[in-house]
Amino acid sequence: MNKASNKRLVIVGGVAGGASAAARARRLCEDCEIIIFERGPHVSFANCGLPYFVGGEIVEQDSLLVQTPDSLKARFNLDVRIKTEVIRIDRAARRVRVRERETGREYEEAYDALILSMGASPLKPPIPGIENPNHFTVRDIPDVEKITAWSKDCRGCRVVVVGGGYVGLEMAEQLRRRGFAVTVVEALPQVMAPLDPEMAAWLHEELRGNGVALHLNDPVASFERPSEQEPARASIVVLKSGQRLPADSVVLGLGVKPEAGLAKEAGLEIGKLGGIRVDDHLQTSDPHIWAVGDAIEVHDGVTGQWALIPLAGPANRQGRIAADNILGRPSHYEQTWGTAILRLFSLAAGCTGANEKSLRRAAIPFQAIHLHPGSHAGYYPGAHPIALKILFAPDTGRLLGAQAIGREGVDKRIDVLATALKAGMTVHDLAELELAYAPPYGSAKDPVNLAGMAAQNALDGDVALAQWNKVASLDPSTTLLLDVRSSDERARGFIPGSTHIPLDELRQRLSELPRDREIIAYCQSGQRSYIAARILSQRGFRVRNLTGSYRTWRAAQPQEETQP
Ligand code: FAD
Repeated sequence: MNKASNKRLVIVGGVAGGASAAARARRLCEDCEIIIFERGPHVSFANCGLPYFVGGEIVEQDSLLVQTPDSLKARFNLDVRIKTEVIRIDRAARRVRVRERETGREYEEAYDALILSMGASPLKPPIPGIENPNHFTVRDIPDVEKITAWSKDCRGCRVVVVGGGYVGLEMAEQLRRRGFAVTVVEALPQVMAPLDPEMAAWLHEELRGNGVALHLNDPVASFERPSEQEPARASIVVLKSGQRLPADSVVLGLGVKPEAGLAKEAGLEIGKLGGIRVDDHLQTSDPHIWAVGDAIEVHDGVTGQWALIPLAGPANRQGRIAADNILGRPSHYEQTWGTAILRLFSLAAGCTGANEKSLRRAAIPFQAIHLHPGSHAGYYPGAHPIALKILFAPDTGRLLGAQAIGREGVDKRIDVLATALKAGMTVHDLAELELAYAPPYGSAKDPVNLAGMAAQNALDGDVALAQWNKVASLDPSTTLLLDVRSSDERARGFIPGSTHIPLDELRQRLSELPRDREIIAYCQSGQRSYIAARILSQRGFRVRNLTGSYRTWRAAQPQEETQP
């Protein structure tokens, strides 16, 4: 291999991971030769901004171009070759074979170190009729150019978004913003799989409240050709339930799969999930080849298992780390926690770490708490509740995951919790974190502190918890559901079968409560029912607090399907 000062680095893929690796490599090595091959017509573009360009929030297409081949040449002296696809890696000769997409010309380039950052391609399962000029995927600028061209002369058209992951939901929001009649179809019983179902339920309500029709638990069976009786510009989306949705266009947001074909053909190790296997230096099974971004498998930070976590932050960090390792700065990539956030109309939904489903799959014991603290001090105008869920180890209290949904302050709480997760903190640490507070921004006990304290209460045995999903199966002969909210709150809705005693009357009315049954207390958010549980347990009653209480229970109740 050439010495570091005149190494030849070849990078496949010039967007998030590839461009980060190239820029870092140049900062470390002024004399290295760095070539980026990018199959598409743009490098270093903002894929995360694509939905907002479709919706018109980002007005200029040029705003999506973070860099261009010329700007990368000028700033970093990078040799960027767009519209050029790497078609083969000759590992023995350390050469790549490339094809210019416009001319078809093929040639080879040698490398000392090769970085693979090919990303992930949109899934297109073999559903009959899926190939259609008015069915769109969303990966790059040419994709959104097609969508915007289609939408120009299509006032009030019907768009069916297939897939309720974050790309599908961002597209649904943005297309609704453009005035289209939007329907989201999802095979699972919920959108946003990284969230647990009672948390995703807030998003269902938000979608429906904003006029987006939602079909859950109902996969697409086929896309049929429209007929004269059922006119549509794209297709009739036929669901497994038999429902037929006429669509003037379809957006496919069915998830992504790693673009690992090139690596596989070169004989590099590929994991069971289909991503390129790398070690903690991001080196592949070939010592001259590194791989980063959506194309690789990573270790899940909580379960320790191999995972595919296609996100921009990890791809950018990995690009930097791969360049460090190539240029003699040993550097480790640890794990990925899947920290993500989505805006959906007026809500933000964020998550980090594991959810209940992944913990169960990995057989990791956990306890869950829900709370609904205000985004900032209640006495200062404009606070909104945040639905906050944290998962933690029942023995040590180690934080395992967090999910938050609300109108304000979700991003800051999820980022604090993501930092805590990375640091291996426990719920006791959360209770003790010193976080910035002034009334417009937070509370003296920040929601993150409150989450830690609520979890501590459970760990210390001060309160036993009941979960929203067990309420329906409670046996009234052994359990009494106790509503401790005010009469006004109860008048706006309550859990069927519950007995009502407002918290402030509880001490005087203890005689009305049974001693031979367990009591499950609830209020609006779980805070007052915790106080009720403390009163009752000290008076000898068997009691649990319904964590998240009425708000969590109500959010998780089945909602009516809406029609566009
Ligand atoms: P990419 O950035 O996809 O780059 C890979 C590039 O490699 C592609 O341009 C491709 O053309 C090129 N390529 C592939 N094969 C070859 C080849 N053989 N030869 C030459 N070039 C090749 N993540 C977030 O964290 N937050 C978000 O809000 C967010 N929003 C998103 C919205 C959309 C619509 C999309 C599509 C993605 C979003 N992501 C988001 C995900 C994020 O963009 C990816 O995780 C990240 O871009 C991955 O970086 P990468 O370098 O692995 O792949």
